[in-house]
Amino acid sequence: MTALFDDLLTSEQIQFRDSVRGFAERHLAAGALVRAHEPSFPFEVAKLMAKQGLLGITFPEADGGAEGSLMDAILAIEAVSSVCPRSADVVQTGNFGPIRTFAEYATPDQKARYLGPMLAGEALISVGMSEPEAGSAVTDLATSATPDGDGFRVNGTKVFSSHSPDAKLFLVYVRYGPGVDGIGSVLIERGTAGFSVGKPVRYVGGDEWCQLYFDNVLVPAGNVLLREGGFKKQIAAFNVERLGNSARSLAFGRHAFTIARKHAEIRTQFGRTLSDFQGIQWKFAEMAARMEAAQLMLYRVAGRAVDRLPDAYETALVKYLCNEAGFFAANESMQVLGALGYSEESLVEYCWRRARGWQIAGGSLEMMKNRIAEGVFERRFSQRAPKRSA
Ligand SMILES: Cc1cc2nc3c(=O)[nH]c(=O)nc-3n(C[C@H](O)[C@H](O)[C@H](O)COP(=O)(O)OP(=O)(O)OC[C@H]3O[C@@H](n4cnc5c(N)ncnc54)[C@H](O)[C@@H]3O)c2cc1C
Repeated sequence: MTALFDDLLTSEQIQFRDSVRGFAERHLAAGALVRAHEPSFPFEVAKLMAKQGLLGITFPEADGGAEGSLMDAILAIEAVSSVCPRSADVVQTGNFGPIRTFAEYATPDQKARYLGPMLAGEALISVGMSEPEAGSAVTDLATSATPDGDGFRVNGTKVFSSHSPDAKLFLVYVRYGPGVDGIGSVLIERGTAGFSVGKPVRYVGGDEWCQLYFDNVLVPAGNVLLREGGFKKQIAAFNVERLGNSARSLAFGRHAFTIARKHAEIRTQFGRTLSDFQGIQWKFAEMAARMEAAQLMLYRVAGRAVDRLPDAYETALVKYLCNEAGFFAANESMQVLGALGYSEESLVEYCWRRARGWQIAGGSLEMMKNRIAEGVFERRFSQRAPKRSA
């Protein structure tokens, strides 16, 4: 956390951030290292955070939310992460990603059925977007939804879904028809006939995902989230997730940086502290410069998304800058700690592993650069192979 940009925040936001930090210090500081190495979702932390009002921060009060701003949710991620980086997963899943898309587009009946347990920290939603043959090219997804009575039959396979080992509900991107316009989404509960979940696979970051198999799963009309033409809406809401991802990247970098800074003041070699060596000082100078620049962009873009979803071009700039700065800082901090930083004794290696993942998740660095270039040249660049003429 930094005070450099406090003048971009209201006094209420500063108070909120400080109170969340106080909460995290009281309840989450002890056990932060143990939690970082626990693959399953920390539901105990989620229940605590629910009581503290940290889930559904931006949601309307009528939906059980706090009617806060996107900036508030980002401040909560930063404050929790500065104390327990793993617990910030709870802030993220309770405010960004699929829960946010759900809150944006779900019907009152769907909200009544599913939102309560999620905002109480008792249940999780996971998003099934990526497929074995559709990663960056997500609009190539093949999971189909074909009409059956009032509802649909879903067939297909999803990969890489975060929190899939623990989730009760899945927001599944499906294809009702051809092309981008044929894409929408449905809600499928764990345990529904024909829906099976594979063995958990571990990411480098320690979190796990399972392959999701849909074999003629019947989805009633009441569980359709978005029909054909829903893709653009989903991606618009997904820009919120990308800002959450950005905040987390930066927070991982900052957490590692804080540990490394303390270490550099204490550890002596050649009769001097590490911080006395210019080679080490310059590492901190570069980490600080990159992180502050990324932080400024994050606050600027999040602050603009007050009564609308974040802009796609601006979000791509932020995600790119924060992913780069966060991983750079975690990597350099690891170097400053030497072998200790490369060991599970310190949270630096955890921050390093998680920050690396954010460079791939939620739209890779390369895809962000593709989107930025479109903004620069003010036109779309299709990534598809040109059609061959006969
Ligand atoms: C930690 C983590 C959490 C995730 N959580 C979820 C989740 O909850 N739900 C979900 O559905 N998915 C999730 N994913 C999957 C994620 O969305 C994909 O990993 C991502 O979209 C990239 O797809 P891919 O891994 O198949 O890589 P590919 O698309 O195969 O890309 C491989 C490499 O090629 C590059 N590349 C591809 N196309 C281009 C291009 N046109 N120009 C330049 N470079 C290109 C990519 O940037 C990448 O470096 C998660 C991934 C990670 C790492």
